[in-house]
Formats: sequence, structure tokens, C-alpha cells
Amino acid sequence: MDILANTLPAVRATQAIPGGREAWSALLGSAFRTPRQLARWLELPGGWVKESLADVPEFPLFAPQPFVARMERGNPHDPLLRQVWPAREERQPVEGFVADPLREDAVQRAPGILQKYAGRALLITTGACGIHCRYCFRRHWEYDRSPTTLSEWRAAVDGIARDDSITEVILSGGDPLTWPDVKLKELVGWLDAVPHLRRLRIHSRMPIVIPQRMTPGLFEALETARLERVLVVHANHVRELDGDVESASAAARRHGWTLLNQAVLLAGVNDSLESLRALSERLLAVGVLPYYLHQVDRVAGAAHFYLPPERGVELTRQLRNHLPGYLVPRFVCEQPGAPAKTVLA
Ligand SMILES: *Cc1c(COP(=O)(O)O)cnc(C)c1O
Ligand code: SF4
Repeated sequence: MDILANTLPAVRATQAIPGGREAWSALLGSAFRTPRQLARWLELPGGWVKESLADVPEFPLFAPQPFVARMERGNPHDPLLRQVWPAREERQPVEGFVADPLREDAVQRAPGILQKYAGRALLITTGACGIHCRYCFRRHWEYDRSPTTLSEWRAAVDGIARDDSITEVILSGGDPLTWPDVKLKELVGWLDAVPHLRRLRIHSRMPIVIPQRMTPGLFEALETARLERVLVVHANHVRELDGDVESASAAARRHGWTLLNQAVLLAGVNDSLESLRALSERLLAVGVLPYYLHQVDRVAGAAHFYLPPERGVELTRQLRNHLPGYLVPRFVCEQPGAPAKTVLA
């Protein structure tokens, strides 16, 4: 399995755009790709860099400029930096942390389509992302099994069209918003024409990490005549939600999208009442409701982010005592074979 290959589509996506490059695609192209480059930019202490860095990361660093701009210079413990920094701990095998903790291999109903839950089909549209999150549970996923060309995706949509138990399609990945507008427009058009589909959901971190992606052209490409539209973004820390994210989210709302957030509970990033509370309050201010707080999966290389589930249960209880109910995300984990995500608190 070649994990390095996962980063290539990000570059290819930027080249697939005909004519002039759009800002978001240039931002993908100019993302930080080496720890030393990022360390220099952030003026991180040299001793710390040397000590903390993994020698040869199997999952390369990838951090776009708009996200890096929200990091604090000179602070090696910045919660945004921690999410992208290839730390030495990643290389130490930890018992119980494996490549495919969710055994997603077992739930592929067709190439690139996962179905775990009733009524919802999830499309792994691409392996490319706007950022590489070190804790990602799909960091070891073999994306090259997903369709790539539109004609292969057409066959996948035909499969969905033959199964009227499916009422919602989730575009996931990787990050579906790394696809160019023309390709998204085609796919969404096909989905719009499947009569038993009622909802289109997109899981994307692009509105957070490269909010410049949320262009009028994108909203036009995603226009559907009748599907309910839900955009689930992914922010873990209050500082990820800057003014550009706020504008992007306002634009999405104007175009009829319901906005939800999923976060992952991460040691050293957001594992305190104050941090989670600030995140929820800021999410509402930018027009997004907290949806899920995920227990970090036991994926190889992510053990340094791990917190026991009891910690998340306790933090969620505390949040509930401080915030209105609609600002308290459900703390969930995934159990292979379960009919829904398991709500822990
Ligand atoms: C998480 C997930 C969903 C969505 O679950 P919801 O509880 O509806 O948000 C759907 N399919 C797969 C494969 C998932 O992992
Ligand atoms: S968490 Fe999402 S955005 Fe981050 S690497 Fe994984 S799939 Fe990509």
C-alpha cells in the first residue's frame, strides 16, 4: 500500500481546472509540505523541531496557508499545529492501534461506496484532502479502489438508483470539495435525478481549512432542484474559525445549506471544558451547529491523541451543565458492525 500516493490527487486536482487557476486551487498547490518549511515559517524552536519530528513520515505533512495563518508563531504546542505535525510518537507501534480500526473494508458495497447504516450511502470520492490531519482514521485507506473517472462514478450512481432503500447520499473522502466544480456538478446532477434520494450531504474540511473554496461557482455546481442539502464541516478548535470561515459559512447558508460540525476529541488540542465550550459558542456565531464529537479511533500512528472514552463522557457532561442543549455535540464512537454510531454521552 502506497500512502504517499494519497497526496498526489491534491496536486492533480489543482491541475485539472481548465483555464486560469482559482484561488483555492492555488492554495492547495502552495500548501506547506515539509515540517522544516512549516517550522521556519512559524519560527519554531530548532531544538524542539529536532526532538519532536518523525524521521520519515509515511503520511506526509500537508497544511494550507489559510490554516497555518491561524497558528501562533513560536508556539510548538499550538493546538492547530499539533493537528498537522508529524510527531515522533507516530512511529512507535502501540498495541491495539491498527491500520483499519473500523474494519471499513467489510462495508464496501461497491467500489468507493460504503454502507454501514440504513438509508445512507457514503461515497469515498477521493483520497485528496485540503489538509492532512495526523489523527485521521482513513490515513491508511486504500483510496485507489474508489472510482476515479466520471464513467466509473456513473456506474456507482446506477447502483444507488437501483436500491430505493437509500434516501441520502453522503459525499465524503478524503475531501469531496477538492474535486473541481465541473465534476461535482455532473455527480450532483445524477443524484438529483434519482427519485428516491431526499438528501445530499457533504462531509468536508475545506470550508474550514481553505474557505476560499466556497465560491459562487461551487454553489452553482452543487445546486439541486429538490434534494435537502446538509454540509458537515470539521473544526476541532475555536481558533480554526476565523473571519474567512465565517464568510464562507454565511455564503453556504444563503444557498440553502444546513451547516453542522463534527469534531474529534484530541489530547493536547481540545480536551478541556474551556476549549470545547469556546468551540461550540464560536460555531454558533459563524452559523454552524455542533453535531458530533468523535472519540478518536484507535488508528496506528494516532495514539498520542488518544483519550479514554470516560474523559469524553465527563467533558460532555460538563459541557451540558454550561451550555444550551443545542450547543452540546453528541459524543460518539464507531463500533464495527453496529447499526448506528454509538452515543457515549
Ligand atoms: C458516519 C457515517 C455515516 C453517517 O452517520 P450519521 O449518524 O447519519 O451522521 C454514514 N455512513 C458511514 C459509512 C459513516 O461512517
Ligand atoms: S480528517 Fe478529513 S480532512 Fe483530515 S486527513 Fe482525514 S479525511 Fe482528510
